[in-house]
Amino acid sequence: MPGQLAAAAGDFTAAEGILRRQAQRESAARTYARALPVVPVRARGMTVEGADGRRYLDCLSGAGTLALGHNHPVVLEAIRGVLDSGAPLHVLDLATPVKDAFTTALFETLPPQLAEHGRIQFCGPAGTDAVEAAIKLARTATGRAGLLAFSGAYHGMTAAALAATGDTAVRAALPGADAHVTRLPYPYDYRCPFGVGGDRGAELSARWTAHVLDDPKGGVQPPAAMLLEAVQGEGGVVPAPDGWLRRMRQITAERDIPLIVDEVQTGVGRTGTFWAVERSGIVPDVMVLSKAIGGSLPLAVIVYREELDGWLPGAHAGTFRGNQLAMAAGAATLSFVRRHALHERAETVGARILGRLRGLAAHHACIGDVRGRGLMIGVEIVDTGAEPDDHGALPAAPHLARHIQRAALDRGLIVELGGRHGSVVRLLPPLTITDEQAEAVLDRLAGAIEAARATAPGAAA
Ligand code: PMP
Repeated sequence: MPGQLAAAAGDFTAAEGILRRQAQRESAARTYARALPVVPVRARGMTVEGADGRRYLDCLSGAGTLALGHNHPVVLEAIRGVLDSGAPLHVLDLATPVKDAFTTALFETLPPQLAEHGRIQFCGPAGTDAVEAAIKLARTATGRAGLLAFSGAYHGMTAAALAATGDTAVRAALPGADAHVTRLPYPYDYRCPFGVGGDRGAELSARWTAHVLDDPKGGVQPPAAMLLEAVQGEGGVVPAPDGWLRRMRQITAERDIPLIVDEVQTGVGRTGTFWAVERSGIVPDVMVLSKAIGGSLPLAVIVYREELDGWLPGAHAGTFRGNQLAMAAGAATLSFVRRHALHERAETVGARILGRLRGLAAHHACIGDVRGRGLMIGVEIVDTGAEPDDHGALPAAPHLARHIQRAALDRGLIVELGGRHGSVVRLLPPLTITDEQAEAVLDRLAGAIEAARATAPGAAA
């Protein structure tokens, strides 16, 4: 097999054939593959090599999964260690030394209150399954059905997680699923739902939340939980102010509402602290974890306050909750990030990248906003030919953003788009990114913006 792959590298015709067959055989619902016609055959760190021999810097990182980049030596060593040991690869949710070591490594990273008095539930391997588990746990513990969720949220594609997700187009396929969801305004400085932005906008969001919960005629039943992201990822890289997170913690605590924080994308150092909640100092009642905790293999868990642990045996079962390779790769990743303080590196490099992007924004009016935390960065692309709103924000320019994504790919840079209108260029490089790689990413992105401005039909600036 390695021989076959090696022979394929540099073979443009083979790559074309694979892409053509994918388009013919895979479903219309395929996602990343549409905008990124790459056929990866080799990858190391931040670099991905396509079957056509082209090399890319990968700022998608498996949608934020690869904290250490592709095929990091400590991850490969951990996987090989399990394979060579003769340990069973499939064990349902039985106890194993590998699982024990993973749980220990994970608990060492958690906020002390959760580590000391917390429980862990291993879920089906996707983030969305852990979100389902968290909602089910809270509903069981409180005997209530309602859920408080936020505009712009993304929590996954299964029923309850999708109901909590903000995307109305995708949710249309599940009519009625969100009957128990109360949607609240997430603080979004650039496009503030209250038209004021900043601390004032965040404060109004908090006031609205407290108000609807306390108004006996407000129409909101006491909910089972509040579910939020500390930095919205798919929603367009929107970091919540620390003060707002503390207010949400206070509002929920005062009303006995469990607070679930979805750290599927923000976890494992990505935002400059090991977990995104650490920055504000809040301790959630439930944390939802996936993506990077499996060290590039599928793994998802929830950790929660033991008082909530009232559900029945088998309440959240699943065949694939014992992936030993993922647990070994995950434990190695968690320990490596912790030992080398890669969250601090994410903070430093991320701040430098943000600084340079803001410099770029000064020369390109089509960059409406640059924002992020650590190495979770977004560049919002806007339509300079349109009128700004009364807060100064220009309408989103998804068409130009797609041109930028394509031009970046042509320059050997893989980026993802996100945001309410698909017009936010997202950078999620591995925490191991070198200074040189960060410069190369910025140079390629700058070149892509120049090129897209010149060629995208109707792109004014
Ligand atoms: N929550 C958040 C915050 C996410 O970003 C994602 C995936 N992008 C999910 C949940 C769902 O994870 P998965 O795709 O593994 O189901």
